[in-house]
Amino acid sequence: MPIIVAQSVGKTYKSGKLQVPALRNVSFSVEPGEFVAVVGPSGSGKSTLFYILGGLTAATSGSVLIDGTDFARLSDAERTKMRRAKIGFVFQRFNLLPTLSAMGNIEIAHDIANLGRDKKIELDKPLLEHLSGLLGISGRLDHRPNELSGGEQQRVAIARALITRPSIVLADEPTGNLDTKNSDAVLNMLRTSSRELHQTVLMITHNPEAAQVADRILTMRDGEITGIAAGRGIAATV
Ligand code: ADP
Ligand code: ADP
Repeated sequence: MPIIVAQSVGKTYKSGKLQVPALRNVSFSVEPGEFVAVVGPSGSGKSTLFYILGGLTAATSGSVLIDGTDFARLSDAERTKMRRAKIGFVFQRFNLLPTLSAMGNIEIAHDIANLGRDKKIELDKPLLEHLSGLLGISGRLDHRPNELSGGEQQRVAIARALITRPSIVLADEPTGNLDTKNSDAVLNMLRTSSRELHQTVLMITHNPEAAQVADRILTMRDGEITGIAAGRGIAATV
C-alpha cells in the first residue's frame, strides 16, 4: 500500500478578492521507502504541495492519504499528532532554535515527536551516534547554531528530522543554501534514510542535478505535474 496518496489535489489561495491557483488536479502516490524528488521553477506549486502533504495547510479540493488516513477526516489535534509521530521536516533555512545547542535541538524534536505518540519512547542514543557519524557532526553537538557553518546547521537539521525515525521525511529545498560538498552530504544522508533506514523521502528542489539522487522525479509547472521520470538514485558527484 502506498504511504502517500495525493488524489486530484487542488489549492487556491485567497488574497483579498484575488484567487491565486497554486495546485491543480495533482495526483500521485509514493511507496514506503521510496525517494521522490519534486522539481519545477519558482511558483510552480512545490512548497504548497509540501505544506499540504505535511498537514500544515489544507487542500482546497481532492484528498491526501498518509498511511491510508485521509487528512481531511482528522481533527486539527489528530492531524498534529500524526504529523509529530510520522513526519520529519527539513527546511532550506534550517529552522534550528537559536538558544539551544545542536544536541538540544535534536532532543526537543524527540520530545515533540513523543507528544504525538500514545506510548513514549526513549531518545535512541545509538541512532543519534550513527546519524552524527554519517553526517560528520559528532564533535559539534554542544555548539549553538550561530557557532556552526550553514552546512553544519543543515546536517544538524537532518539529524533532528531523522532521530524520531519518522516514516516520512519531507525536505523543502534542503540544499538550497549549501555549497557542493555540504549539498552532497545532505543528499547522501537522505538517500541513506530511504535505502537503509527504509524511510520515505519526498524532497523539493529547483535543482535538476540534486533531484537525480531520487528514485523518481516529478516535474511541476503552473501547479500541475507535467512529467514523471526515473532518477539515477545517487548524488551527482559520488
Ligand atoms: P514554489 O514552491 O514552486 O515556488 P509555491 O507553492 O510557493 O511554489 O507557489 C505557487 C503559487 O501560489 C504561486 O503563484 C505563489 O505566488 C502562490 N502562493 C504561494 N503561497 C501563497 C500565499 N500564502 N498566498 C497567496 N498566494 C500564494
Ligand atoms: P562546512 O564545510 O561544514 O560548511 P566551513 O568550511 O564553512 O564548514 O567552516 C569550517 C568551520 O568554521 C566550521 O566547522 C565552523 O565551526 C566554522 N564556521 C563556519 N561558518 C561559521 C559561522 N558563520 N559562524 C561561526 N563559525 C563558523
